[in-house]
Amino acid sequence: MVGPCGYPQIESVNIAQVLTFACHEIQWSNQSFCFSADTKECHFPMAKMMESATTHAQIPFKNEPLTDFSKAENRQAQQEALGLVRQEMGQTHPLLIGGQRMNSEETFASVNPANPSEVIGYFASATLEQVNEAVRAAEEAFKSWKRVPAEERAGYLFAAAEAMRRKRFYFNAWMIYEVGKSWVEADADTAEAIDFLEFYGREMLRLAEDKPLPQIEGEEDRLVYIPLGAGAVIPPWNFPAAIMVGMTSAAVVTGNTVILKPASTSPMIAWQFMRVLEEVGLPAGVVNFVTGSGGKIGDALIEHPRIRFIAFTGSREVGLRIHELAAKPQKGQIWLKRTILEMGGKDAVVVDETADLDAAADGIVASAFGFQGQKCSAGSRAIIVEQVYDQVLQKVVEKTKKLSVGDVTKPETYMGPVVDQNAFNKINAYIEIGKGEGRLLTGGGHHGPGYFIEPTIIADVAPQARIAQEEIFGPVLTVIKAKDFDEALDIANSTEYGLTGSLYSRDSARIERAKEEFHVGNLYFNRKCTGAMVGAHPFGGFNMSGTDSKTGGPDYLLLFTQAKSIAVKK
Ligand code: NAP
Repeated sequence: MVGPCGYPQIESVNIAQVLTFACHEIQWSNQSFCFSADTKECHFPMAKMMESATTHAQIPFKNEPLTDFSKAENRQAQQEALGLVRQEMGQTHPLLIGGQRMNSEETFASVNPANPSEVIGYFASATLEQVNEAVRAAEEAFKSWKRVPAEERAGYLFAAAEAMRRKRFYFNAWMIYEVGKSWVEADADTAEAIDFLEFYGREMLRLAEDKPLPQIEGEEDRLVYIPLGAGAVIPPWNFPAAIMVGMTSAAVVTGNTVILKPASTSPMIAWQFMRVLEEVGLPAGVVNFVTGSGGKIGDALIEHPRIRFIAFTGSREVGLRIHELAAKPQKGQIWLKRTILEMGGKDAVVVDETADLDAAADGIVASAFGFQGQKCSAGSRAIIVEQVYDQVLQKVVEKTKKLSVGDVTKPETYMGPVVDQNAFNKINAYIEIGKGEGRLLTGGGHHGPGYFIEPTIIADVAPQARIAQEEIFGPVLTVIKAKDFDEALDIANSTEYGLTGSLYSRDSARIERAKEEFHVGNLYFNRKCTGAMVGAHPFGGFNMSGTDSKTGGPDYLLLFTQAKSIAVKK
């Protein structure tokens, strides 16, 4: 008898198709087997993907290693995935509501920001009726999903992590094309998405454990965490895998159901994640995929009376709007909507005269220009004390001039395009404003046909200038001179944001002071202010940077639950 690995139909499976379905399901003798892209063989029954979550969770959480692109085999695998993804571009993708694929009369295109005439894919512009349908589907699925044991829910996350691991280069490739990430940035994004799945799976098992409470005599007293209901998950495009997967998986693993509305500049990555969820067999309706402009369907989703929570990451402007709309009770609404809002930043790297100046310059450049400065954690301000200002500035400019900007499909490219025409226009407008507010030291230019902007440094800027206060979200570094450490710290705290910050100093008393007074959600010393790691650096900001939800931390899942106290008289 021919076994699954010799299953005749294997011969007819197109290898490219198999690669996209890293785990390709094959039926054999009434059992499903997974055809692995890595081994090119069917090596375990699908049921095994759901193998005991508790066993899996006994392996302590470890961050997913980054891919070493100095190795020829990894470079080749990434090139192949880029080639494969290019063949798959330009297709039309539906909504996914209650497990059903649905089209819409109108579609929109997601395009390659390096070459806007290249369409990544077309996506349905959901109608308001389809938004309502998605909420209904999520509510329906909630009735059964909330009863699924925590171990099983966590099992889906572990299986999805495994699937994304197998599709690592494939996910990277979509990000390189869809949002212009360099290889290294795209790979870190996929790795973080896997981390969230692994971390929240384990966190759910911890949360589900019985909590010892002080007991009243003659009673049995317990506290259990139950899910909220059907919620909206609205991620940004700048970590199109990590943040989208993180918010969605946290909501789902705690027993909620979701309407996932991805950013309109990165719907493809979310679509690929939906395919992963289908592949691991997540029940229909637990995650509903609804694409379309936030400006058109956002209000209807947020205001829907049956929406129980909104998990949002994005701009200050949209976050505040959601906060306001969600606060207003609608007809038929019987709860206060929970909002989890992560917003922008105007993050600072502070350098004092005791610092290792080379390390500080490296940290400033990496924080300002990684992924074209399009990170909420980007160090868009460098605040340098007078004594070492010129020295640090010179090093920063020299290092910046060496950064390559261009074709991100090549592994050596450091910076690609900014995400779209709006971002391109907005950033260039800020550069013009900046030219009037400070001294342009390098950059300031742009070139097409993609949305390429040179890494730009504007120095001698006053702390209250617009480019020192407003989030630009692009490759623009504002440099501010402080007379001493005290003033530098004051300047660092002088915006309405409070997301990340970094201090380069060898003075332990100052480091201790900054731990108390540098008012940001994620504070770093003698390292860059970007690159938070799941687990070690729970992430979220103060003030207008959001509700400080601390993603990837031990408190995050609680935000998606409500605690129920149960007392039973014996
Ligand atoms: P954005 O314009 O606010 O969009 C974020 C999401 O909100 C997108 O899915 C967008 O959909 C949707 N949206 C837009 N208008 C809406 C509305 N009226 N109602 C409901 N949803 C609506 O932000 P972005 O440009 O994608 O992301 C960049 C921003 O995110 C920056 O400010 C950055 O600092 C912030 N960010 C913060 C964190 C953090 O953890 N604090 C992390 C990453 C990014 P459409 O795309 O369809 O408009």
